[in-house]
Amino acid sequence: MPHPNDPKLRSFIDVAPDSHFPIQNLPYGVFSAKDGLAPRVGVAIGDYVLDLWQLAQDCRFDVVEPAVFAAPQLNPFMALGPKVWSSTRARISELLRHDHPELRDNESSRKRALVPMADVKLHLPFAVSGYTDFYSSKEHATNVGVMFRGKDSALQPNWLHMPIGYNGRASTVVVSGTPVRRPRGQLKPPTADVPSFGPCKRLDFELEMGVVVGQPSVMGEMLTEKQAEEMIFGFVILNDWSARDIQQWEYVPLGPFQAKVFATSISPWVVTREALEPFRLHGPAQDPKPLPYLQQTQPNNYDMALEVGLRAAQMNAPRNISRTNFKYMYWSSVQQLVHHASSGCAMNVGDLLGSGTISGPEKDQRGSLLEISWNGTEPVELAAGVKRSFLEDGDSLVMRGWCQGDGYRVGFGEVEGTVLAAE
Ligand code: MN
Repeated sequence: MPHPNDPKLRSFIDVAPDSHFPIQNLPYGVFSAKDGLAPRVGVAIGDYVLDLWQLAQDCRFDVVEPAVFAAPQLNPFMALGPKVWSSTRARISELLRHDHPELRDNESSRKRALVPMADVKLHLPFAVSGYTDFYSSKEHATNVGVMFRGKDSALQPNWLHMPIGYNGRASTVVVSGTPVRRPRGQLKPPTADVPSFGPCKRLDFELEMGVVVGQPSVMGEMLTEKQAEEMIFGFVILNDWSARDIQQWEYVPLGPFQAKVFATSISPWVVTREALEPFRLHGPAQDPKPLPYLQQTQPNNYDMALEVGLRAAQMNAPRNISRTNFKYMYWSSVQQLVHHASSGCAMNVGDLLGSGTISGPEKDQRGSLLEISWNGTEPVELAAGVKRSFLEDGDSLVMRGWCQGDGYRVGFGEVEGTVLAAE
């Protein structure tokens, strides 16, 4: 049987070359359709969602009980582990192949199992157990450091020795398309003597990837590179909405708190680690060499194109304000996970790890408005007469990402969020 990542595979379903969901991808999500059934697990293929619960009624899945596909979240499926993830993906790939008749030639099964994507509602794909956000782009950390501390002490002394992170909130992780209410908080601009409480005036986005942890680790035990890798079920695009003015006043000495916890948006499809395998590469050289527990023996970064579009209410379409790549990240997701568990912290099925803002070396590769507008001093022009230093009410932010194969794209779709006025 051909490997599900084989670039030559074709589905009996037509998939456009620029579609994010060819047979080589097969990302998992949770959807509901007009049939009135409860939200359940599906796989994206071209312009369709493959209903795995319906499919499992007609076509044999040796390794899983169909019940895991009837769940309104991916957690029960993820809990089954990497061998089951792999064999399930191989079986789905087989059933969708153009040269495999089982589903292709069974019209009634096909009708039940394939739902036009235009007719479904996509839900948060997994129950988020814990959310941790990292700070692992050297370019991003340097840009922010230069803005707030000057060139000479841009990177803090610990930054090159470990993936810096903070514990965020799982309670406000939302799926793409969910509007985001402008947060309120304590503000104390440098010109004010005392703080006031009110709507954030410097609302920002952060372009990130999110790791979906699919296996638990044992409290008290460390992880090897290999163990951490095998715990990663897949990736989503993540927008870590940030209130820069709240952050600036509150972050000393314990780091971000209210500035980050009001909303985190993720894309609805979880692209599996296995589907990203062909796009692995080595990250930037790490100098100084990390401590032994953080050293990597294999390429743990990915060649993944990312872009950010911003649409003000008066515009018809988003304007691209950043184009970058996940490959620039200094600390890999595997290193983040190894570090996270290194003290003895237990990881759970459904944990979400934000990569940290992804900025590249070039000016047009910056992953936040803070950097793009250089702390508000260089507003970006979106359209004639429409400029932005930070996000305004009615603005819609769209992030997209994909890995480019030879004639196909393994993509994430998008994560969108529109800013609502503060209450
Ligand atoms: Mn962040």
